[in-house]
This record gives sequence, structure tokens and C-alpha cells, in this order.
Amino acid sequence: MEAVAYRLGLRNRFRGITERQGLLVRGAVGWAEWSPFAEYTRPEIDAWWQATLEAAEIGFPAPVRDRVPVNVTVPAVAPEVAHSIVSVSGCRTAKVKVAEPGQAFGDDLARVEAVRDALGPDGRIRVDANGAWDVDTALAHLSRLSRFGLEYAEQPCAAVSELATLRRRLARGGIDVLIAADESIRRSGDPERVVAEQAADIAVLKVQPLGGVRRCLELAERLGLPVVVSSALESSVGLAAGVALAAALPELPYACGLNTATMFTGDVTSDPLVAINGEIGVRPVVVDENGDWRAGPAATAAWQARLAPVRATEEDR
Ligand SMILES: [Mg+2]
Repeated sequence: MEAVAYRLGLRNRFRGITERQGLLVRGAVGWAEWSPFAEYTRPEIDAWWQATLEAAEIGFPAPVRDRVPVNVTVPAVAPEVAHSIVSVSGCRTAKVKVAEPGQAFGDDLARVEAVRDALGPDGRIRVDANGAWDVDTALAHLSRLSRFGLEYAEQPCAAVSELATLRRRLARGGIDVLIAADESIRRSGDPERVVAEQAADIAVLKVQPLGGVRRCLELAERLGLPVVVSSALESSVGLAAGVALAAALPELPYACGLNTATMFTGDVTSDPLVAINGEIGVRPVVVDENGDWRAGPAATAAWQARLAPVRATEEDR
């Protein structure tokens, strides 16, 4: 299978990185992406490869809609930058990163306030803490952030049991903030616990970590929660799988976190999968084979070496 590493620069630091790398592979039905983050190891990265194989060799299930509403993602930037990212995006929903290491809660408050100002009263704001808060901190911070009107808080605490406790305490305190589970779905190894413990109102699904579009559709049905499809910060080739999932879900009540191609300084296609007026059209992505996204032979060799044991297991099956 043809495979080549890509390298894309980020406009702002995100998840502690300034550059995104991954592998593009070409199968029977087209290009697909394999791009587990550097800190991921086996067996987690095997699920990412199942998603890649689906996209490369099988293709996606039929869509039930031709456009997908998306949010603008606001990294842990200064308020002025946050305001401008939201203003130019054309999106009516913003996802704001909070609880960034090295920052104070005042930074989060100022960023969310700037985003509310940019969106106006009708826009929707969700915050994502990536599990950084304990229950008491989450309760205190969400009660102060709630005055800006939050659609939901994504993974405010790390553990499923903490999310469940927080959710009960928010309700008891009359604080109207829904809880979305992200890491608790894709990294816990037991996504159904979120439902069993009533720990969340919304499930965030990501195609690569969860092993493909079809597996996500099955999981969504089992969970029975409203789903928000988000990217794993992929190139437009990887994003196409997320768009395919969002397009195939029977119901899509929330904007999806799929407009992340705008966070890069380039892409692997000359026609990136980005939102127009807050929506991404469901369409194929054509790789620009002569683009300057190629990371070079050494990077491709390193990615292939990382993939080799995953593929060896796949061939054993
Ligand atoms: Mg998240």
C-alpha cells in the first residue's frame, strides 16, 4: 500500500504541538489517513489503523445529509485573538479550550467573554477542559462561566465517576450546563460506562480513535446519547471520515468539531474541507500530489516503522 508522511504547520499551538504529522495511505477506494498523536501506543493505535483501512479499502456508508454544521475551535489564545478567530469563521458555534497548563482561570473567563462578544447572544459556546479539573474546581469554574451561556462543557473532569458526580452537583446547584464526554468515550476502553453511570448528556465521537465510521455508528446506537463528531486534528483526508460519520448519523442536533483544517497553515489538498457559512459540504477530498505537505523520506520511514507492528497483527488475523 502506498504511504507517505505529511507535515502541516499550526497557526496557534494546540495540544502542545505546533506542527501536525501523519501518514496518508492509498487503498482500493482512495487516500486515507493514519495519524495517532505521538504519545499514543499500541493497542490504541490499532483502532486508528482500522479506521484508516475502512477509508482506504471499503469507503464510507451512505450519507443522510449533504452538509454538516460545525463549530469554530478556539485554542488557548489571548481574548483579542479568540475574538478574531470567531469573527472570521462564519460559524455560529464556538468550542473554546480552557484549563490550559500554565494559564489561570482568569484567562479562560476573558477568552469565553471575548467569544461571547464575537458571537452575540444567539451564538453557542462550548468549553473543553480535556479532563483538567477536579469536581470542586469544575463546579466553581463552570458556575462562573455559565453566565456567558454554555451549550455544554466537554470532559471537565478526567474520570467517568467524577463526571457523574459533577453532573449531579450541577443539577442540585441549579447550574444549567450539560456535560459532554470525549476522552471518557474514546480512551477509557469502556464507553458504555458513561451511560451506565449517567455521567454525560452528550457523546463526542472521533473516527480514528474509535476504529472507523461504521464502528462509531454502532457505538452511537448503543450509547443512545446525542453525538458530536469531532476531528483528531487531521488533514482534510482524515477529516473526510469525520464528515462521513456526521453525514450518516440518523440525528445531528449539535454542530460538529470538524472545522479544524482552518487551524493549519496548509493542507494535503488544494481544496481543504473547511466550512462555508458554518457548514462543511459532504464531498470527496482530492489529494494534491505535488503539494508541499510531504514530510520527506525520513518522516515516511519513521511512520511506516511505527505502523509495521500494527500491520503485522492485522495480517495474523
Ligand atoms: Mg475534547
